[in-house]
Amino acid sequence: MYQSANPMILTLVGSAVAGGGVGALLSYPGWGTALAVLAWGFLQARHFSRVMKWLSEESTGIPPDGTGPWGDLLDQLDRHHKRAQTREQKLQSVITRFQQCTAALFDAIVIVDKHNNVEWWNKAAVTLIGIQDRDRGKSIFNLLRDPRFIRHYQRNQFQETLNLPSPVNSDIHLQYQVNHFGEGDRVLVARDVTRLVKLEQTRRDFVANASHELRTPLTVIRGYLETFLEQEPPRPLQRGLTQMQHQSKRMESLVADLLLLSRLESTQHINDEQPVDIQELIEQIHRDAKDLSGERGHEFELEINPDYDLMGQELELQSAFSNLVFNAVRYTPGPGLIQIRWSVDEKGGHFSVRDNGIGIDPIHIPRLTERFYRVDESRSSASGGTGLGLAIVKHVLMRHGAHLTIESHAGKGSTFTCHFPPEMLRRMAVPQRQSDTA
Ligand code: ADP
Repeated sequence: MYQSANPMILTLVGSAVAGGGVGALLSYPGWGTALAVLAWGFLQARHFSRVMKWLSEESTGIPPDGTGPWGDLLDQLDRHHKRAQTREQKLQSVITRFQQCTAALFDAIVIVDKHNNVEWWNKAAVTLIGIQDRDRGKSIFNLLRDPRFIRHYQRNQFQETLNLPSPVNSDIHLQYQVNHFGEGDRVLVARDVTRLVKLEQTRRDFVANASHELRTPLTVIRGYLETFLEQEPPRPLQRGLTQMQHQSKRMESLVADLLLLSRLESTQHINDEQPVDIQELIEQIHRDAKDLSGERGHEFELEINPDYDLMGQELELQSAFSNLVFNAVRYTPGPGLIQIRWSVDEKGGHFSVRDNGIGIDPIHIPRLTERFYRVDESRSSASGGTGLGLAIVKHVLMRHGAHLTIESHAGKGSTFTCHFPPEMLRRMAVPQRQSDTA
């Protein structure tokens, strides 16, 4: 700017001197100077308007001719403009490639802003979740209204995926994965997992049918064994028959657990939740656990928050909680201590079972809820477990929007805690007298 100002002033001074000289020859030096400055000004104004016209046409054409400092200025502008054009073209080609790439994806991608409004989506989102132009700028919950999706999205814990039928076609099963990016924005990916879901269904049906078919022969075998044993057979035969009876009982529990698991797996979430009297439930489990403990004489400690009940499926919760308590009895040598606790805080409700039994080495913990995973095969068989207890707990909790945490150290004991979200809690009605005094 300063570099081009000097030549400008120089041309102005040069024109004024030349005009003054010519004027002096004609005896009008003042007029000569004035006319020369006027002509200079007119020339600059013409250059200026040409440059403005070129710029206002968004510099698409060739720059106008310019002499002196105007020429330098136009050259600079032209170079600058060409550089900007190249940058723009590169950016455009990146955007085009990104659009082509996202359009080629089979997974639906939706970008949602920090106010939960839909901002952008790819082609697959149209077919898989039925997104349309009118959804732009609208809440994602207008499009995906399933309460399970809303709950998952609002929980803000996106390590886990969520499987739901597509809102446009219930035969298509989608797996939703949400993640954060930028400043509060989120990217939602929906993947078509219909084939996987169907395969899983086939596997479940097979296990359920096989278990069901095994029930009748097992009942017959058990019946005969009982009859034979009642007849007081000779000693060696009696030992064999007793062992057969014991093993057939184990097989019956196994079949029952397999059937329960396949029933739990048939839907991802419970849809018939009822208020469950948690205090009553825990007391009932406590009585059964004392029977199981028998002569080993475990000591039980109960701590129950009486103000909150849980919304859920009572039989399933009973099965999950009793599995945890019975495990504590099985894996804690008598007369160990077993603490059962129901507590509530701002994160939700927590049912925990703590024992001071044999504990588990931390390396086993991540795999503990897998079917038939056992830390120590001989000990588990001796305890009479089926190897399916914790898998059942995991499924029941999943169906209640809850999750399990396990803390344990070999030789010191274990704590198993079921964490329920606040929306599954139900505050008990405050008795009239208490509310009067409050
Ligand atoms: P099982 O029928 O074998 O008890 P589970 O699924 O209930 O099957 O438990 C899986 C394994 O976890 C058990 O075999 C046992 O080794 C371990 N386990 C479960 N609960 C406890 C506990 N309270 N203390 C120590 N080990 C436990």
